[in-house]
Amino acid sequence: MTFCTICGRVALNESNLCRYHQDALDSLRSSYERWREASGVSWEEYIEKLCQIDESGRWVLDVAEQIRSGDDLSAPT
Ligand SMILES: [Zn+2]
Repeated sequence: MTFCTICGRVALNESNLCRYHQDALDSLRSSYERWREASGVSWEEYIEKLCQIDESGRWVLDVAEQIRSGDDLSAPT
C-alpha cells in the first residue's frame, strides 16, 4: 500500500497521490492544456500562477505547491 506524498492518505493504485490530490492534479493538467493553447505559458509559470491566485482550490493549491517545491509528480512532457 502506498500513501499520498502530500497528505498521507491512502494513495490510488499506480499513483503517489490520494484520490483528492489525484483529481486536483488531473484538473490542474487539463486546465494547463487550455492555458498553454491560449497564452503559451510554461508548466513552471503556470504552477507559479496557481500558487498566487486565490481561486485555486485547496487541493489544487496543495498539488501546485508540491510541484513547486521540486516534486515533479507527473508533469506533462
Ligand atoms: Zn492527498
